Amino acid sequence: LFAQNCDFIMGSPVLDNLPPADLGEIAFAGRSNVGKSSLINALTGRKTLARTSNTPGRTQMLNFFLLGKREELALYLVDLPGYGYAKVSRSLVNQWTRLMKDYLRGRPNLRRVYVLVDSRHGLKEGDRDIMKLMDESAVSYQIILTKVDKLKKGEQEKVREATEQAIKKNVAAHPEVILTSSVKGDGVDELRASIAALAAS
Ligand code: GDP
Repeated sequence: LFAQNCDFIMGSPVLDNLPPADLGEIAFAGRSNVGKSSLINALTGRKTLARTSNTPGRTQMLNFFLLGKREELALYLVDLPGYGYAKVSRSLVNQWTRLMKDYLRGRPNLRRVYVLVDSRHGLKEGDRDIMKLMDESAVSYQIILTKVDKLKKGEQEKVREATEQAIKKNVAAHPEVILTSSVKGDGVDELRASIAALAAS
């Protein structure tokens, strides 16, 4: 699944024109600056796959990539638009919410959404909003803590425990959180294994 190039398929600001739901799909969500582009790049071994440091307020896109080979094992990987920018307008927030609702309800092939959360900050309002949307639309998701290289081992375990405790009542949440660092490589193999299991299922 991760042996070959991960090709960019398309970016779309709307749901009309997405790739056919002919393969399993996983998606990555998170607040802006959480480290989403860096983690997708670390995962796929490419440096230019996802552009880092997106501009707040630019067109919100669903970016589709192909992981693996169609004739063997493959999945769509979707980079969802970041949320939680301090300065975006109400109308842009509404646009994001509409797009997310439609996407989460409109992709029957969606196997899991990985919700990235900065390990130093824990769950924030925007994270809870998207988790609520997924609980309501029965879309399975898993929390990924990012940038754990910024924390000591003991602190990492504390935030893992606190996060697993906090999501206990979220019906569609996977009970285990994954700790990652794109800089040090922590958790990347664990995340790949999790994705590979979804591709095979
Ligand atoms: P995105 O907006 O969610 O796509 O976030 P980026 O991948 O662009 O990362 C935002 C910032 O966090 C950049 O300055 C990255 O260099 C930094 N960053 C991303 N991942 C890590 C990580 O694992 N560890 C550390 N220390 N910094 C990271």
